[in-house]
Amino acid sequence: MNSSIPSDAAERRAVEPVICYPNATLPDPDMATLARARPNARKTGECLVPPREARCFHVPAGHFFRITSVQGPQVGDLNLWSAADPQERFYSGKTRALHGTHLTRGDRMWSGFPYLRPMATVTEDTLEWYGIDEHGGSVHDVIGTRCDPYTHHMLSGEDYHRCCHSNLTNALAEELGLGREAAEPLVHDVLNVFMCTGFTRDTGQYFMKASPVRPGDYIEFFAEIDLIGGLSACPGGDCGAEHSSDTAACHPLLVEIFAPAGPLDRPRPGRSGYRWP
Ligand SMILES: [Zn+2]
Repeated sequence: MNSSIPSDAAERRAVEPVICYPNATLPDPDMATLARARPNARKTGECLVPPREARCFHVPAGHFFRITSVQGPQVGDLNLWSAADPQERFYSGKTRALHGTHLTRGDRMWSGFPYLRPMATVTEDTLEWYGIDEHGGSVHDVIGTRCDPYTHHMLSGEDYHRCCHSNLTNALAEELGLGREAAEPLVHDVLNVFMCTGFTRDTGQYFMKASPVRPGDYIEFFAEIDLIGGLSACPGGDCGAEHSSDTAACHPLLVEIFAPAGPLDRPRPGRSGYRWP
């Protein structure tokens, strides 16, 4: 392989980048209709996710759900499944390609192929003020995965059983009445709620830093389809030092469900219109 630097290396590097997926033609999330409906919505349920555990919750299409930091800074790993068919689940990679590395108000959580439709729309985010910091970090990423016992074992030789992957697997197995072997393949890469992450500029490595979340901060979503949500209160706590251990201080996360006063004048998204030949 010839790895010698070409004489025109500087010019080659100077080529202007092109956005891979210009998103101006994405379906309009119609934030105005959602904003009008939200003040009249009433709370119908809640679920407190204990530290280093996960819980599943149902959100009917057309309802809102809110994840709130309570007691102390805490990161949450969020999975979404279609309640009608849990094989349809959140696709973090395509969501990242469409919206960028971190989600905030107006962005959507898309499902995988062959569905590729919005599962949820972010309607409120009290950490929107954070923006992108001097390290290139931001909040609510779709660039990480979920902490898992396999990678941890590979890197450390230790077995740790309360990783977000483990917690989500256990919670989904209980929710669907499945064995762990059947539930585990349905667990997928997450929206890292409240987590502050980025890539280092020099080595391009995934980094985390202590979450700026304060008790009372929340991110809220509108459910575009009938959903099962799974949320793990990450063993990393605020993810300021380490994860996959019992070292970090961890806190619960609160999930609340809100029903609108009446049906919204808003179409429910169907699966992708693409058809194979
Ligand atoms: Zn985790």
